[in-house]
Amino acid sequence: MLTQAPRGTKDVLPAESYRWQYLETKMRRSAALAGYREVRTPVFEHTELFARGVGDTTDIVQKEMYTFKDKGDRSITLKPEGTAGAARCFLEHNLYADALPSKMYYLDAPIFRYEAPQSGRLREHHQFGCECFGAKEATTDAELILLAFHLLKDLGISNLSVNINSIGCPKCRPLYHQALKEFLADRFDGLCPTCRERFERNPLRVLDCKEKQCRELTKDAPSMLNMLCGDCAEHFEQLQECLRSADIPFAVDARIVRGLDYYTKTVFELITRTKDGDLTVCGGGRYDHLVEQLGGPDMPAVGFGMGLERVLMLLDAEGIEIPSPGWYDAFVTYMGDNRIQAFRLTEALRKEGIRCDMDHCGRSLKAQFKYANKTGAPVTATIGDEEAAAGTVRLKRMSTGEEQTVPAGRAAETIRTMLA
Ligand code: ATP
Ligand code: MG
Repeated sequence: MLTQAPRGTKDVLPAESYRWQYLETKMRRSAALAGYREVRTPVFEHTELFARGVGDTTDIVQKEMYTFKDKGDRSITLKPEGTAGAARCFLEHNLYADALPSKMYYLDAPIFRYEAPQSGRLREHHQFGCECFGAKEATTDAELILLAFHLLKDLGISNLSVNINSIGCPKCRPLYHQALKEFLADRFDGLCPTCRERFERNPLRVLDCKEKQCRELTKDAPSMLNMLCGDCAEHFEQLQECLRSADIPFAVDARIVRGLDYYTKTVFELITRTKDGDLTVCGGGRYDHLVEQLGGPDMPAVGFGMGLERVLMLLDAEGIEIPSPGWYDAFVTYMGDNRIQAFRLTEALRKEGIRCDMDHCGRSLKAQFKYANKTGAPVTATIGDEEAAAGTVRLKRMSTGEEQTVPAGRAAETIRTMLA
């Protein structure tokens, strides 16, 4: 127990965190290019926010939230998704009074869902997400899809498909709900237990059930796309026009409905094919009524969330190497009593921007070299008695064994040339 992290969580070890940092840098850059600036919201919010925002008929709210009473007897929930918190923040700080649209992204936001852990499905995962408040045009939906698409492409992920759909609005969706329910009623007994529950409270969700029998039964279900109102149909047409103009491959998939109640009009997913089946790396859509539902003004909005663990999984699966920055640029080794000289050299090199270290474990010189080698340091800087007396340092290129002795004051500069 004590030495085991809770099920469905994952440590990121010091030796692998550079992979996350690499993604973060790319994500920040993609977001900035399109005018999205970072927002940071708390890890927990009032439970009510998600019940109202995400929707209390969703799987997330009904089964998956980490909810607890704090010591003040308030019901608190660890974020099960990123959008509701961003919308709350947008409202609380009257960002709608500024020039719109208000564009923001979050990075590394921990997301908590009590799900059955399996490959690509954790109980704590992390998302990069972008949200745009106050823009109703389909150009926004398109820009977000393109942002996610180009980011993943740029990371080297291939066989990426972009699937889009429209799930209408409160004007046209009730009619569709009715038609879908009539269709499902005739097939009710064949549905999986979860879908039988969904039938009443959230029939749309039956369409994206992953169970085979449900997929089969709903193959010929009526399509929302045939029942969109004029406004939704036009919006969807414009989105497609934008995507065509950007020359990216995409498909209309009437089965995408997404798991959160707040979506209206556009929903989309970026999916890759892996040997274990399809994996959704990014999902998003428009949520034109969320802000209003939370007590704010009428405010169109659209956004997406991308799972960082899944992106890393795909990079692994496709054998894409993330360039490692290495650990040290140099390692200081010393002989005998020259510990303080070694310490001073180490600190001096650090001041010069050289990533370096020295032995802190009382190793012999031989063992120090062995350790330096293990860290992958490309250069060692040694202070023996002779060097200490002369105020010099012996530099060695580890890959070739080639050595040179330089005045201590020139060590940093020389190391830099050796690294170049
Ligand atoms: P899925 O259909 O795979 O359950 P979702 O529709 O629940 O995904 P979203 O709520 O849209 O996912 O979250 C956005 C992204 O976050 C997903 O596309 C995925 O990359 C990632 N994600 C969602 N749930 C998990 C999880 N339990 N573990 C790891 N990543 C996840
Ligand atoms: Mg899910």
